[in-house]
Order: sequence, then C-alpha cells, then structure tokens
Amino acid sequence: MKLTHKLSITIACSVTMIVGVYAFSEVRRETTLFESNLVRDSTVLGTATARATAHIWERDGERSVVDFVDSMGTGGPSGPGMVVRWVWLDATAGDANAPELPVEKLRPVTTGQQMSLLWPPPGDSSEAMYTYIPVSLPETRRAAIEVRQSLSSQRAYIRETILRASIELVALLLLSALSVLALAKLMLERPMRKLIDHTRRIAAGNLTDRIVVSRDELGELTVEMNTMTERLALARDDVDRATAAKVAAVEHLHRAERLTTVGKLAAGMAHEIGTPLNVITGHAQLVTEEYPAGSSAHDNSVIVAEQAHRVAGIVRQLLDFARSRAPVQVSQDLVPVAQRVGSLMKAVAEKRDVILEVIGTPGGLRGRVDAGQLEQVLTNLVMNAIHATRGRGTITVGLERCHAQPPADLGREPGDHACIFVKDEGSGIRPDVLPRIFEPFFTTKDTGEGTGLGLSVVHGIVKQHGGWIEVSTELGTGTCFSVYLPLATEP
Ligand code: ADP
Repeated sequence: MKLTHKLSITIACSVTMIVGVYAFSEVRRETTLFESNLVRDSTVLGTATARATAHIWERDGERSVVDFVDSMGTGGPSGPGMVVRWVWLDATAGDANAPELPVEKLRPVTTGQQMSLLWPPPGDSSEAMYTYIPVSLPETRRAAIEVRQSLSSQRAYIRETILRASIELVALLLLSALSVLALAKLMLERPMRKLIDHTRRIAAGNLTDRIVVSRDELGELTVEMNTMTERLALARDDVDRATAAKVAAVEHLHRAERLTTVGKLAAGMAHEIGTPLNVITGHAQLVTEEYPAGSSAHDNSVIVAEQAHRVAGIVRQLLDFARSRAPVQVSQDLVPVAQRVGSLMKAVAEKRDVILEVIGTPGGLRGRVDAGQLEQVLTNLVMNAIHATRGRGTITVGLERCHAQPPADLGREPGDHACIFVKDEGSGIRPDVLPRIFEPFFTTKDTGEGTGLGLSVVHGIVKQHGGWIEVSTELGTGTCFSVYLPLATEP
C-alpha cells in the first residue's frame, strides 16, 4: 500500500475516532441531564400535589383527594407524557390505586422518603421514570403520589442524534481521508517521486543532474543527495583518470618493450649489413676509378656506390636507434642548440619553399641534455615538418618554460619543465595513423623517402633524458610536437 494511502487512512480514522468518542460522551451527558430534569420536574409536581392532597384530605376526606389527583391525570398540569396518580402503598395488585412498581422496589417510600426509579430497566420500550412522594395522612394506611413520565420521546431523540452523528462521522471520515490524501500527494508523494527518479538516474550513472524539492526535511535530504552525487562524480572522475593513466602506462610499456626488441634486431642487422656494405662501397669506388668516365662500367659503379651510400645512411639510422647509448647530459642553455638546428635545416626548408624560424631568447631556458642527441631530435622533427608542409608554410621551433603534468609511467608530480615545440602548417596526421607514428619502421612516406625510424629515435632519446613527447594535430591545418624535458637545477 502506498505511503500516502496509509497516512490518509490513519489520520482519517484517528480524527473520526476522536470526534466519535466526543459525540458519544455528549449523548451520554445529554441523556443524564434529561433524566435529572425529569426527576426534578416530577419531584416538584409530586411534592406540590402531596401538600395539596394533605389539605384536601383534612377538609373533604379521602374520596375528594383521589378524585383531585386522578383529575390531574395526563394533559393537566402534569403536561404531555406525564401521569399523576394517587396510590396506596399497601394496595394489592389489580387495585385501581395500586402502585405500578413492585412493592419491594418502594421500600424507601414506606419509610417516608421520596424516590425516583427508571422502570422497567433500560432497554424495554415501555421504559418510564417513576417518582414517588409520600403523603402524610392522619390515616394508618400509607399513601403516595406516583408521577410517571414516559421516556419514549427522549429515546427517539437519542436514536435520531446517534443516526445524525453516525452520518456526520462517515462524512468526516471521507472528507478527512480525501483532504489528507490530497495534501500527502502534494507534500509527500510528488517530492518523493522526484527523489526516486533522481536516485534511479544516479544508479544509471547520470551524476550531472541536481534536484530541489522543498524546504523541509525532504529538501534537506535532496541537499545531502546532491552533495553525495557531487562526491560520486568526483570519485568517478578520479577513477577514470587513474584508469586512463594505467592504460597509457601499459601501452607505453608495451611500446617500450617492442622498441627494445626491434632495437636488438636492428643492432644485429646493422652490424651484419655494415661489413658487406663497406666491401661493396670499396669495390664500387675501385671500379669507378679504374674505368674512364662515360664508360658504362664507370656509370654503373657510380650508381652502385650511391645506392650503397644510401643503404649506409639507413644502417647508421638503425644503429642510432638500436644503440640508444646513454646520453652525456650537461647543464646548458637549450636555445643555442635549437638555433644550431635552425641554421642547419634552413637551406633544406627554403628548398621546399618553407620558412623555418626559431623563437627563444638565449639564456632563458636551461636543461641537462646531451646536445648532440637533442640536435638529432630537433632535426628529425623539423625534417618531418618540412615533409608534411607541401607548398608554402612556416615551421616554428619554440622554447619556453611551462608547468606540465608528466605521464603516469614517469611517476612524477606536476611541475615546471623545458618545453621545445616544433609546429608546422602541414597536412596534419590522420586519426588512424596517429597511434602508430612512434612505432619503428612505421612510415606513410613512399619507399625510399622514409624509414619509419625518425620518431622512434626521437622517442628513445627524449625518454633517456627523463622527458616525454606530446602531439597535437589537425588534418589540413598542421601538427605540433612538444618535447618536455626536466629543467637543469644547477646553473
Ligand atoms: P619517417 O619520417 O621516415 O616516415 P618517422 O618515424 O619520422 O618516420 O615518422 C613516422 C610517420 O609519422 C611519418 O611517416 C608521417 O606519416 C608521420 N609524421 C611525423 N611527423 C609528421 C608531421 N609533422 N606531420 C604529419 N605527419 C607526420
């Protein structure tokens, strides 16, 4: 059963019970008052009659007294429903002046006291109030005035009162039940329904909604619920962040493992290829020198030497990537390192119609770096940027101090870092390509143009310096690689 129904039934029943008890006691009180009024009226009439009969007895004798009293009968001074009679207390049953009550009930009258009695006992339809007033006579026989008042009108009145009260009680019951129900719906059910819906939404994971219902205890409850939801949302954000960090750390570890394996493989291959490659280059040079320029042997040996040279370049890159020698870190100003790369690459950039600029004031940013390795990092990034910028565009190499949060796997608190970024206005990186760009041998360039090792090398060097790389890119707009490195603590 609904709470509002329970409440309305309980309140309606309680109100009806209280009013019912009050009505019952009122009926009882009125009945008692009515009966005492009857007794008083009967006693007044009976006493007056008894005094009058005593005088009449002395003056005119017994017959006149009986006639006088009987003449009062009903409808006389006694009024409707009231009967006054002369009774002999010793008269036998059947005698015209015998009392209507049994003799044993009239003992107080025989001793000279007046009395009143309901007879027959309550419940009988002929119930009436009998009052006896003893009359003092010179005679030895004892007489009394009997006043009988019918209670039928009073009983009818009571029955009618009870009926009316019952109808009123039923009406009260219905009215109070309906009004309590309406109020309970407005003040309880609606806000409760809101609360239940809100709780369901929270259970379904919606932690953004907030509710306001009223300014009472339910309102307090909603305030507490809103606070709880806020805390839950914060806790969920924390869990999401921790989970994302864990996933990133696992991915990073996975990549690092792959890089190590590929690195070992590359080192072995480079070593194996290196020696025969030197032999090829040496012999090609010999052939070139032996044959005159223009001869096919000379031209072919030049091509062999060029291609062997290219392969040697790739092998060198492989070795760079594979060796991953520990950097020799020295505290130094990073801006001159970037400017060196800028001046070295300027010519390459201009050849492709690209402007290369380095922004940074010398002396402003110091880091503990291996200058050679950092140059390699920037060279690779600038080279990629030049490749991505097809047509006119600007590549910016910038250096700044910034506050940043290291990735979870580095396990360091947020803090100030040296940030070197290489920003281009090139093609941008496709979303399906982005997760793979640091993989060794992953390239989107044509065969012969890219080895897919540039970013792997960059990644390895930056990691060895205790830093990390972030990439932001937008297709058709450009890409920005940001390298974060720890600041030098010493000058
Ligand atoms: P490679 O340059 O030899 O292809 P990298 O490891 O340097 O190898 O780069 C891997 C891939 O990442 C590239 O082939 C290219 O698709 C993408 N890439 C790197 N830098 C950029 C850039 N600045 N803009 C667009 N794509 C880039």
